[in-house]
Amino acid sequence: MTANLISGTEIAAQIREELKEKVKELKEKSGVTPGLIMVRVGEDPASVSYVSAKTKASEELGIYSETVVFPEDAKEEEVLAKVEELNKDPECHGILVQLPLPRHFDTDKVLNAIDPRKDVDGFHPINVGRLLIGEPFFMPCTPHGVQQLLVRSGNSPEGKRVVICGRSNIVGKPLMAMLVQKKKDANATVTMCHTGTKDLASITREADIVVAAMGSPKAITADMIKDGAVVIDVGVNRIPDASRKSGFRLVGDADFDAIKEKASAITPVPGGVGPMTVTMLMMNTVRAAELAAGIA
Ligand code: NAP
Repeated sequence: MTANLISGTEIAAQIREELKEKVKELKEKSGVTPGLIMVRVGEDPASVSYVSAKTKASEELGIYSETVVFPEDAKEEEVLAKVEELNKDPECHGILVQLPLPRHFDTDKVLNAIDPRKDVDGFHPINVGRLLIGEPFFMPCTPHGVQQLLVRSGNSPEGKRVVICGRSNIVGKPLMAMLVQKKKDANATVTMCHTGTKDLASITREADIVVAAMGSPKAITADMIKDGAVVIDVGVNRIPDASRKSGFRLVGDADFDAIKEKASAITPVPGGVGPMTVTMLMMNTVRAAELAAGIA
């Protein structure tokens, strides 16, 4: 069996088209332009590149975006004061503080200062709690992207046995909270695995859907997957590759080449979950504007 490829690039493009329409409608009917303000501290190259991808996506969809840049040695109080200012700014619907912050920052303190109704990353404890009880203002972007990939590729998690490998606060745990809800596009039986899990393979082999979010190259191998299962690979790992100019290539947490002969569907890396993350941030920004306008 050769698995169907679940293309994050294609599904993200589809969602962006829908969002473009929504943004247009919001502007026409309510006179509201969704506004996303990003805060970056320092010049970490990965952070610069992530923020520029978010700026580009905003432009593409007609969302207003701005980046406030602080120097690496900025004081925590300065950034907190900016967040407070943005919390009060009616033109700013979504606030995103790009992580990681420099080491002298208390990251939780900064993230917790964001108004939960503007917390488009969905990391504020109020949003985490609301997600768990099934009433989120915003869903964290990467796990929401995973859910959308499943639903839009015709692999709804409803009634399925889902095994999530990885329990981080940004991927595994929020995905578990989303998929266990008694709701459409969820309602799954979810098992969460981690490094304390004994005999991981015996658990993943029972899954209809395996989500790999471990940060460990090719940790999920073909013998861990049952015939016809769906595999969503969140992992992004650099491995050395002398044949590439860069000297490395990106691989996921799943052994793609072997698993594609056994699974019914699988996401590639790159081109799977990656393109969804920024797109779901755009979705949250539009939702934030709708919340502010009293529409959502
Ligand atoms: P993380 O915070 O490092 O968490 C990794 C989780 O996987 C932990 O819960 C860890 O268990 C578990 N784990 C690691 N190795 C394992 C193993 N061999 N068996 C079972 N469990 C194992 O990682 P993260 O931030 O969630 O990210 C996971 C991966 O997704 C990374 O490759 C990251 O780059 C990628 N990612 C991609 C996107 C995207 O947009 N495409 C977004 C976010 C993350 P313990 O808790 O026991 O340590």
